[in-house]
Amino acid sequence: MDKYQAFNSELMTLFQKMSTTFSGLQNNSGLTCLNECGECCLSPQVECTILEALPLALEQYQKGEAEQVLEQLKNSQAMVCHFYQAHSADGKKGRCGIYEQRPGICRMFGAYARRNKSQDYVLGLCKLIREKHGEDLNGIALTYEHDMAYWRQLMNSIAPALSEHLYPINQAFELALEHVLSYYHFSSMKKVLES
Ligand code: SF4
Ligand code: SF4
Repeated sequence: MDKYQAFNSELMTLFQKMSTTFSGLQNNSGLTCLNECGECCLSPQVECTILEALPLALEQYQKGEAEQVLEQLKNSQAMVCHFYQAHSADGKKGRCGIYEQRPGICRMFGAYARRNKSQDYVLGLCKLIREKHGEDLNGIALTYEHDMAYWRQLMNSIAPALSEHLYPINQAFELALEHVLSYYHFSSMKKVLES
């Protein structure tokens, strides 16, 4: 297993736990997303690290489509995620086109915990879910496992050099694809030189 595959394997294990934790919070509290909603994916403010975009980059590389997707991203002026598939005229209904490989941040949209000034956990909520459920949100048990910062720390520890910065999501995909392509390009050159 090479270094990118090792990062990816560790990251995917973490992503599974993250998804279970955050969907558990939503389901157990009843604070579920609106049907077919994809509005968070329309935000130009979605950011992630290069590491979070690595599963997508490796998947595309393995399918032989990494160069093509990189080219599309480079030529695109779109501010919203390249992989969002809208199903309604206003774009607000839709789905993720890379659900299994989506970055960590996308697994925490919706409901999460953050610390207030007293260091207590308070509920962070997407504004659409808050509107749907009103202000009666007391009594939801929150722990460190619902804290985005906790998961960000775990993700970053897998590959600190790929986790130093947050980028707009399309840029993170672009950079992850460039990393993967140049890594495998040089690996194959090395093999040829050594043979
Ligand atoms: S990767 Fe998927 S979930 Fe994340 S912003 Fe893009 S479309 Fe939405
Ligand atoms: S987190 Fe909010 S905006 Fe995103 S899908 Fe759920 S309800 Fe929609």
